[in-house]
Amino acid sequence: MHNIIVIGSGCAGNTAAIYAARASLEPLVVEGLEAGGQLTLTTDVENFPGFPEGIMGPDLVERMKQQAQRFGATYKQGEVTRADLSSRPFKLWIGDQELETKTLVVASGASARWLGLDSEQALIGHGVSSCATCDGFFFRGQPVTVVGGGDSAMEEALFLTKFATEVAVVHRREAFRASKIMLDRARANDKIRWITNAAVTAVEDPDARSVKNVRLRSTVDSKEWDHPTNALFLAIGHIPNTEIFRGQLDLDDQGYIVSYGGARTNIPGVFHAGDVQDRVYRQAITAAGAGCMAAIEAERLLESEE
Ligand code: NAP
Repeated sequence: MHNIIVIGSGCAGNTAAIYAARASLEPLVVEGLEAGGQLTLTTDVENFPGFPEGIMGPDLVERMKQQAQRFGATYKQGEVTRADLSSRPFKLWIGDQELETKTLVVASGASARWLGLDSEQALIGHGVSSCATCDGFFFRGQPVTVVGGGDSAMEEALFLTKFATEVAVVHRREAFRASKIMLDRARANDKIRWITNAAVTAVEDPDARSVKNVRLRSTVDSKEWDHPTNALFLAIGHIPNTEIFRGQLDLDDQGYIVSYGGARTNIPGVFHAGDVQDRVYRQAITAAGAGCMAAIEAERLLESEE
């Protein structure tokens, strides 16, 4: 029987683990399929307070983990595939293994969104990717394409200019969602080519097991054309990892956990932290803050029950 299990090992989960461990609750962190969370897919983090020179994303998250382990947190590889939150103790399953816990912090984060095209899905890992930092290197000296108009798209495009001959940014509107600083930085880079008001309708060629061309359609007049490229990087946002809680935790129309104030969910003893609930800020620092809140609330609940 655990006092507290944390699902997820990104900024939110690690911070919850640090606080719970320092409160002598001996937290168990189930790392999830994407251990370390979204920070492991990024490069320089320039806006996390305390690092005036910036820090690499994977480095930051690894330090958080070590900090939690120092105070007695245990990390377990694997993914929680089923949860029974109908009564306490809550039951969780990692495959066949059953775990019981008095309190639960859901910090399972959000995963990359895909366009949902068959040709795109067929080419994931063969030129279609959601992670420039992971896969950009393979396209050294080649033209590549990024889809999206937010900060992630700008960040991916800028990163890819280090390898690629040209980086085309395809965005479905004229206006960009990205912050001014990121957009200005991308606009100042002459390796980046801008294709606005366009949507990807197909990726070619699944039969050749590589990306050769992207079919684009104008969102203004529906005209279609070919855009030759050797890789397609998707940077079109994320989907919260809440599927296993559907029907138990209250979720909003996009699948994010509904907050009942602080870190509380609709089930007493289950707390949310980070991008699994936050569709607005979605920053490393806000996720860390949310992890802290969740752990403090879990600790107070356990204390009140003693
Ligand atoms: P985002 O801000 O939600 O932007 C997603 C982009 O993808 C939007 O431009 C959206 O277009 C487009 N999009 C969504 N679905 C699409 C579809 N089916 N087809 C084509 N385009 C689609 O997501 P994000 O860029 O991942 O950023 C998430 C959060 O992380 C933000 O708060 C951001 O500031 C933060 N972030 C910060 C940094 C940094 O500061 N260094 C870096 C990365 C991310 P529309 O604009 O038309 O909706």
